[in-house]
Amino acid sequence: MSIDSLTALIRTIPNFPKPGIQFRDVTTLLADGPGFGELVERLVAVARPLDPDLIVGIEARGFILGAALAAALGKGFVPVRKAGKLPGKTVGIDYVLEYGSDRLELHEGQVPAGARVVLVDDLIATGGTALAAAQLLREQGASVLMALFAVDLPDLGGKALLEEDGVATQALIA
Ligand code: AMP
Repeated sequence: MSIDSLTALIRTIPNFPKPGIQFRDVTTLLADGPGFGELVERLVAVARPLDPDLIVGIEARGFILGAALAAALGKGFVPVRKAGKLPGKTVGIDYVLEYGSDRLELHEGQVPAGARVVLVDDLIATGGTALAAAQLLREQGASVLMALFAVDLPDLGGKALLEEDGVATQALIA
């Protein structure tokens, strides 16, 4: 299946969750068996040569893609969640958004020092979320081999932001 066919499976919903946002809804791609399979194969093709120890996924759609990728590679999966969602002892990072701030957390000890990780989310927009997640992983002593996304919105500059910070960044669809 071509990238164009994959792209066509992603629905755009205008003005969600706020006026002016064009929401790229990957649930229509996930609901398509051949499309989801192709998406995961393409993620595997990028991540396997990096030989990661762990795949880390960002809440919420990064869990779906990251878990599928981890299982295909035979590697562990670790979720990075919004504050207060994980039941065990956590480590976290606060980061600034356009309006206000937010916090990402992961379970203490699940990303060991020295771990080589690939960070996964469905989409990179401004890059703020992925940059915070990458910083949190580095604070654990991990090395972030790549931040990998299904979709990039290049006009928002997220890939450039991550790469300025030394995080190799790739998206299947731009
Ligand atoms: P950012 O931190 O600006 O790169 O935003 C990335 C996070 O917000 C990801 O977890 C995306 O799933 C979500 N997101 C941001 N903008 C969009 C959009 N236009 N369509 C779908 N998801 C989005």
